[in-house]
Amino acid sequence: MNKPQSWEARADEYSLYGFTDLPSVHKRGAVVLTHGEGPYVVDVNGRRYLDANSGLWNMVAGFDHKGLAEAAKAQYDKFPGYHAFFGRMSDQTVMLSEKLVEVSPFPNGKVFYTNSGSEANDTMVKMLWFLHASEGNPQKRKILTRVNAYHGVTVVSASMTGKPYNEVFGLPLDGFIHLTCPHYWRNGEEGETEDEFTARMARELEETIEREGADTIAGFFAEPVMGAGGVIPPSSGYFQAILPILKKHDIPMISDEVICGFGRTGNTWGCQTYDFTPDAIISSKNLTAGLFPMGAVILGPDLSERLQAAIEKIEEFPHGFTASGHPVGCAIALKAIDVVMNEGLADNVQRLAPRMEAGLRAIMDRSDHIGELRGIGFMWALEAVKDKATKTPFDGDLSVSERIANTCTDLGLICRPLGQSIVLCPPFVLTEDQMDEMFDKLEQALNKVFAEVA
Ligand SMILES: *Cc1c(COP(=O)(O)O)cnc(C)c1O
Repeated sequence: MNKPQSWEARADEYSLYGFTDLPSVHKRGAVVLTHGEGPYVVDVNGRRYLDANSGLWNMVAGFDHKGLAEAAKAQYDKFPGYHAFFGRMSDQTVMLSEKLVEVSPFPNGKVFYTNSGSEANDTMVKMLWFLHASEGNPQKRKILTRVNAYHGVTVVSASMTGKPYNEVFGLPLDGFIHLTCPHYWRNGEEGETEDEFTARMARELEETIEREGADTIAGFFAEPVMGAGGVIPPSSGYFQAILPILKKHDIPMISDEVICGFGRTGNTWGCQTYDFTPDAIISSKNLTAGLFPMGAVILGPDLSERLQAAIEKIEEFPHGFTASGHPVGCAIALKAIDVVMNEGLADNVQRLAPRMEAGLRAIMDRSDHIGELRGIGFMWALEAVKDKATKTPFDGDLSVSERIANTCTDLGLICRPLGQSIVLCPPFVLTEDQMDEMFDKLEQALNKVFAEVA
């Protein structure tokens, strides 16, 4: 039997692609990468791409950060692996928990580690179910999230995710309720102001709680800015409108900061950018600047105390992953937090975010087919429309955003198609020149594709 020869054919033959548009990959072949330089990645044919997606939002320090690699190597030499069961854990794990609570918005708190963002959300749900049952409310199990939310792919986190593609798995599970996505541009009604729209979102929440019964709802999860939903910042005053309702009904609010955490919105946390205090934070992706699979649940003071009391009652929290709190992951995370916060990366986001917004806005203004620019910090999306005035989308069969992203790839720029939008979330190390390269290539691709389809 002949084995396939090219990298693309070998990828096709033996790998099952996840979250990949198969028609595109069948036509074009997979891009097989060997290494990176700053915000660029390089493929097996030596082609360089500016990765305006930071890998998958997470490689915020670029693809060859020496200090991070050295922290990993040093820890691999010293103590290359351990778990966090049976009252044992590595010194790095102790230090990272301390650090995470210190940089969190919580005066006191506790940290629990997982290997991914999905597992961190799953863990949080189990914590809530366990906590409520322990407090005499075993029926308090329903989970509220929003349409378009992305919370992961495990059975529970996929049920929290508000995307229609989960129907192929027979998900969501019962008891996972999706509220309206607070996207004013798309979901606002004729003549409705943004403040009225926000008030409607808050009313929907309150009506849902009253209909279902507050005593059946375990928690509410939200990303400060929806990421994989297409970079959707909340409508004005959204969190200020919903938090008091959740509080009144004793429903914990969990901020899924897997994308927003550690600098993406310009501050350490998205909840700081949008000025609210959640009951817990979910972190992953940027936590290790993408160098190690790791997630964390960071509990605020109230949930920490209540969960601790619930655990004391049964003497043991029966949950954990073999690699929870892995010493190498923790050492990398400690270094990543230092790099992002103290080596100028978060500052670079703050400094260049207005420039990024202005450049993208200029591209939108020159185009007849970009209906909305939305985002904050270093996370932005341009929404393609057939008609700007009526916001009419292009026919789905045209696969406009896939074509734009594929054309960008041909030009040496990686960006992501999401629905009918193009998402740009570059590494925090991006320079002004590299930003201009991103603008140029993106605009070339937009012009080419819109000329073909419009
Ligand atoms: C990526 C993501 C997750 C899931 O993280 P994984 O590590 O892929 O499991 C959860 N929540 C948000 C907001 C994410 O962006």
